[in-house]
Amino acid sequence: MSLDRVRKRLHEWWSRGDWGICGHAPDDMSRKIKKAAHGKKCPVVFCDHIMTYYEGELIDDKYPDAATTEHMLPRACGGVNEEWCLEARCNRCNTLLGQILNEDYIQKYGHISKVPFGGLKEFVDFHYRISSKAFDEKFYPDLVQRFKQKIGWDSQTQLNDDEMSESQSLASSLISEVSNEAEEVIS
Ligand SMILES: [Zn+2]
Repeated sequence: MSLDRVRKRLHEWWSRGDWGICGHAPDDMSRKIKKAAHGKKCPVVFCDHIMTYYEGELIDDKYPDAATTEHMLPRACGGVNEEWCLEARCNRCNTLLGQILNEDYIQKYGHISKVPFGGLKEFVDFHYRISSKAFDEKFYPDLVQRFKQKIGWDSQTQLNDDEMSESQSLASSLISEVSNEAEEVIS
């Protein structure tokens, strides 16, 4: 499995204009991946979950540490049920990454076909690389911040001065955005 293959498939899928989404991975394929992950650390760099295989359990948000089968190229971006595309990640990371794709891209633009390709490619790269030991967070500052926020990472670690002033300036820009919008509505 490689990032090149993921990028190539994304590009093919995108160029074809095929917005169909494949189903979940077949049970036998998925079980094999999840069983092999049992007792191992979730590969996502900001996550300390030890993955657990729950035989026959319905995995919902009650089991954040459950081993799940992640499509390394998300299903909504042309991911397929083939071995090269599947890897174990904990339930929490799998869910949160899917939420970010949905909220920040698909919902924001209304439909996957309207998301600029460059933006989607950046997300797909981030989504793939976040479980690589060589992950370099400085290439994805916004996505990293979004993910850390969702995972509650900030509450576990002390912010340094730079991060503190960055988060304060982000907060004030959000506030001014909201008040600008409010003014537009009023006027
Ligand atoms: Zn995880």
